[in-house]
Amino acid sequence: MTADCLFCRIVAGSVPARVVHQTDTVLAFHDINPQAPTHVLVIPKEHHREVGDLDPLTAGQVLQAAHHVAKAEGIAEDGYRLVFNTGRDGGQTVFHVHCHVLGGRRLTWPPG
Ligand code: AMP
Repeated sequence: MTADCLFCRIVAGSVPARVVHQTDTVLAFHDINPQAPTHVLVIPKEHHREVGDLDPLTAGQVLQAAHHVAKAEGIAEDGYRLVFNTGRDGGQTVFHVHCHVLGGRRLTWPPG
């Protein structure tokens, strides 16, 4: 737990979130500013700054949870996108690693 981290506060329950899935190690909740009909964030409960800081087990748990969410949200069949914005040029704004699960419409490529 890092006191000044928004997502750590969501894990602790002191900031509300619309949780859709959790395990002992990961938490998934709706993004507050959705960029697609389905937009869920999957985070490790433990604080890590960015994806490169994750140990392989935790990284796998985040990816497994992201696929679980995609199935539970009904977007797995038509397809979806997982995104880890990383660092300034990657567009990361919250420095607690999170996997965006996006779907429910035809997503364009390349990203902006
Ligand atoms: P990124 O820009 O990749 O760091 O993504 C951060 C994401 O967190 C953005 O999509 C925000 O809309 C989302 N976000 C910020 N505050 C909250 C919050 N309180 N609850 C849920 N999602 C949030």
